[in-house]
Amino acid sequence: MNKKTIKDIDVKGKKVFVRVDYNVPFDENQNITNDERMVRTLPTINYLLDNGAAVILACHIGRPTEAREPQFSTKHLVDHLSELLKKDVKWAPDCVGPEAENAAKDLQPGEVLLLENLRYHKAEKKNDPAFAKQLAALADVAVDDAFGVSHRGHASNAGIAEYVEVVAGFLMEAEINYIGKTLEAPQHPFVAIIGGAKVSDKIGVINNMIDKVDTIIIGGGMAHTFDAAKGFPIGDSLCEPDKYDLARDLLKKAEEKGVKVVLPVDLVIADKFDKDAAFKTVPVDQVPDGWQALDSGVETSKEYVKALEGAKTVIWNGPMGVFEFDNFAKGTLAVAKAVAKATENGAVSIVGGGDSVAALKKTGLTEKISHVSTGGGATLEFLEGKEMPGVAAIADK
Ligand code: AMP
Repeated sequence: MNKKTIKDIDVKGKKVFVRVDYNVPFDENQNITNDERMVRTLPTINYLLDNGAAVILACHIGRPTEAREPQFSTKHLVDHLSELLKKDVKWAPDCVGPEAENAAKDLQPGEVLLLENLRYHKAEKKNDPAFAKQLAALADVAVDDAFGVSHRGHASNAGIAEYVEVVAGFLMEAEINYIGKTLEAPQHPFVAIIGGAKVSDKIGVINNMIDKVDTIIIGGGMAHTFDAAKGFPIGDSLCEPDKYDLARDLLKKAEEKGVKVVLPVDLVIADKFDKDAAFKTVPVDQVPDGWQALDSGVETSKEYVKALEGAKTVIWNGPMGVFEFDNFAKGTLAVAKAVAKATENGAVSIVGGGDSVAALKKTGLTEKISHVSTGGGATLEFLEGKEMPGVAAIADK
């Protein structure tokens, strides 16, 4: 990676501002239901503490307004973060202004301070220079470990670089290295698996991938737009009729480039969108009226497995069906297993997007994957080849 990381700077005795992505899910009692994003930043924080830095953490939760809705306060992270770091984490009731400044000033090497939600200030998302300058003034150097927001140019991850040097944390480094380097010089055969609900969300990725991969597996709800564009009846399945031309163009482009496209050959259809719906498997061109496809069928799973055999690079984003309902999770689980197996056999595998990661977790195979990305939208935009403002702001080596 040609970006500076925390290993390239001396942090001893320094105040280090660390942008993290702690936008974690909570239950109705404000208990954290998945702390993965916090856990993944621990190596960076512990490295900084072990090397004599005072660590100032900044993040956002949810989409608050300046009314400062209390459910979005970072206060709800303090206890769990203290447990994870095995030390008391201090907290400041704002991210700029006198309270934040005093707390930062008093912070000693080896101590951790968590600032209040950055997005309580509109200036954060507006990338307001004065706000970025105030954040920068809290510290001697800044670290960006928030890959999940890298596709956004906000004050805490982009604007701040005008006032203080920004370097990558270990999580950011891993994301850039795995995704960036893999796309730059992938080993072949290269297989991309794109699933999920909407063609419109992933059109850019599919388009970019066709230029790079040998095989592209298209599954999940978005496959039905391709099926319908081919003239198959799809019943009440998810579909974007205004994308038929686009779907046909993508298939044509793939054919011209010699890229193999794997679409479902059979589908598990349901009589309603419900976990207890009646269901049966039918060939892809025989979905009756009143039914909707919620998963790929057994024959399709066999095709997925075959397409992944011998793969040397695999990128997976988006589930193959409504995996949240057990009866419609089989296609997704089959892909998860096949990706894990390909990795065991030497492939570099990257799984991104909250749903694919959740599906992977269901199989207990997460550890087998080369890189599980913490980004959702960020991973997609990186895969699309778009410039990421958060990554661009990190100092070059
Ligand atoms: P995305 O955010 O685009 O990756 O989409 C993920 C969502 O797509 C998951 O919540 C799945 O339940 C949903 N999904 C996948 N396949 C289908 C399908 N055939 N019909 C409806 N929703 C689907």
